[in-house]
Amino acid sequence: MSSQPEYSFFGAVERSFDKAAKFTKWDKGVLEQIKQCNSVYRMHFPVKIGDKIEVIKAYRVQHSHHKTPCKGGIRFSLSVNLDEVMALAALMTYKCAIVNVPFGGAKGGISIDPHKYSPYDLEKITRRYTAELIKKNFIGPGIDVPAPDYGTGEREMSWILDTYTSMRPGEIDALGCVTGKPVTQGGVRGRREATGLGVFFGIREVCEMAEVMNRLKLPLGVKGKTVVVQGLGNVGYHAAKFFREGGAKVIGLAESEGAIYNPDGLNEEEVFQYRKSTGSIHDFPGAKTLKKNSDALELECDILIPAALENVINGENAPRIKAKIIGEAANGPLTPEADEIFIKKGVLVVPDMYLNAGGVTVSYFEWLKNLSHVRYGRMEKRFTENLNSNILGQMEFLSGKKVAHKDREVIMHGPEEIDLVHSGLEETMITATHEIMEVWKHNPEIPDMRTAAYVVAINKVGTSYAELGIFP
Ligand code: NAD
Repeated sequence: MSSQPEYSFFGAVERSFDKAAKFTKWDKGVLEQIKQCNSVYRMHFPVKIGDKIEVIKAYRVQHSHHKTPCKGGIRFSLSVNLDEVMALAALMTYKCAIVNVPFGGAKGGISIDPHKYSPYDLEKITRRYTAELIKKNFIGPGIDVPAPDYGTGEREMSWILDTYTSMRPGEIDALGCVTGKPVTQGGVRGRREATGLGVFFGIREVCEMAEVMNRLKLPLGVKGKTVVVQGLGNVGYHAAKFFREGGAKVIGLAESEGAIYNPDGLNEEEVFQYRKSTGSIHDFPGAKTLKKNSDALELECDILIPAALENVINGENAPRIKAKIIGEAANGPLTPEADEIFIKKGVLVVPDMYLNAGGVTVSYFEWLKNLSHVRYGRMEKRFTENLNSNILGQMEFLSGKKVAHKDREVIMHGPEEIDLVHSGLEETMITATHEIMEVWKHNPEIPDMRTAAYVVAINKVGTSYAELGIFP
């Protein structure tokens, strides 16, 4: 049996769910069905590492089948356990519902420290895990579609795809069995940065809401706001990049070995390269090194972005946090105790289950691309450019004026895959932000944005079950 942790992440998700369920019209049975994990697969398999056999513990949880396929990342971390995978799978269901991605939630995890294995051994483990999923019908473009998460990336997704296609030859939609693949292997442009970019779009939208900014006593817009990011992995790196490019100042960055602070702003790419060459972010030129990585969370700033792991802001450190907005880029970085403290302090917590939905949104675009077997933009790019050229020509003819070369390029440009993906993501995040805020605004009893987000999710999943006729 896997030992269960003292802090139950799934319990925390259930508590947030129950808090929101009171604001919905669904009866107890429907709520119970929405809450439960529909299928749980816990496995042990042997892999030969060097000259020894290691027994690897892994999971795949499908939280909801109200829509299929199920969708959710695969995490490689020693701290992976059943409770965590169940919680993350549940969050995926709610996340997909909020951003109108037609999937049920799922999550997978392998309980290993990926840094302790060579790429060769990691490949063996990933392929064996995939084979176990295939055996039990827990993977497939219409069944369950994994993606990257903490400790995994494009490389692991390629191994999963290759194992799947080898074992299911001739399956025409096989490319859609996993997302987050390299572009050369059926991936979509824009997936890599999608979660961080989605975090930026979501927070930017909140910062454009005059009512919200007045309440927080902050000026409108992202420009000039100070930001601290915890975790410089896929999500944290890209979130920091887009905040900096959007005119915010990233004054603090934390990684597992420590944190750095520079009130004049940090460049995430320079820090990333420095860490790569020295093995640590300590003593980054021009920045002050903070003793503990968690010290960064307590820096004076406008926006705090935890983008590493769950349970990092809790009842103990929440009272010392000075940020006015917390954007949950990671899954579950705040405990329910921290939520209560922030409600009292008037801090705005922008919740994980919608804020980090950029990854799954673009994964959905990737899956659609795989099923349609055509790259986005291929059919319309040239047509749009010809059309724009004709319109521009007519305008120049009628006005007798020539459009400048640089403006001409902007006007003529037909959409590439990356343009369509970014714009689809932007639209998704803006719409979701407004939908949640509307629910919150129209129900003053709802204490925080997380509860409002859960209300939106519960209503959508409940409606879906009701429309399926599952509850006669
Ligand atoms: P990642 O493995 O690419 O990066 C995580 C980073 O956090 C690593 O660089 C790690 O060294 C660092 N880290 C670990 N402990 C830390 C600590 N105590 N303080 C500071 N840094 C620490 O993982 P990721 O894909 O960026 O995922 C991060 C979080 O975002 C996870 O909670 C994940 O579930 C969530 N998420 C990821 C995606 C995605 O598309 N990758 C989508 C949605 C949510």
